[in-house]
Amino acid sequence: MKLPSHVKPIPGFLNWLYPKGFTPFLLNKIYLNNRILRDLETENPKPHSVSILIHEQEHLKRRGLTHSLKYALLPKHRLKEELRAYKKQFVYLKSKGEEYDIENVARKLSGPFYLFAADYKRAKKLLEDLWQQA
Ligand SMILES: [Zn+2]
Repeated sequence: MKLPSHVKPIPGFLNWLYPKGFTPFLLNKIYLNNRILRDLETENPKPHSVSILIHEQEHLKRRGLTHSLKYALLPKHRLKEELRAYKKQFVYLKSKGEEYDIENVARKLSGPFYLFAADYKRAKKLLEDLWQQA
């Protein structure tokens, strides 16, 4: 698929840290892991790769300094922002008949990578609800 010009590869040394991608809220850019980016550039990218782009595109809708600070400082805000993005991602994956490793995301959201946005049980329940509704 043809990718918009604001979608960039993650600079080499950060690839190991981000197996999927990230969207810095202060820039109008989406950075994707090279493996995901290469798959998206093919004619038939995997639904999981497309869903990662959808997730990051949802983050891109809300940018700016205030949002960045709230995301960094407030676990509640961080969780809300991530759930918004996962919702879009889940709707797409379900429409393609795909599965998703919810426990893995719940572990990430409740761990250091997302600065402990919620405890594991709560994150898992919220994600399961999202998947049900998707
Ligand atoms: Zn996210």
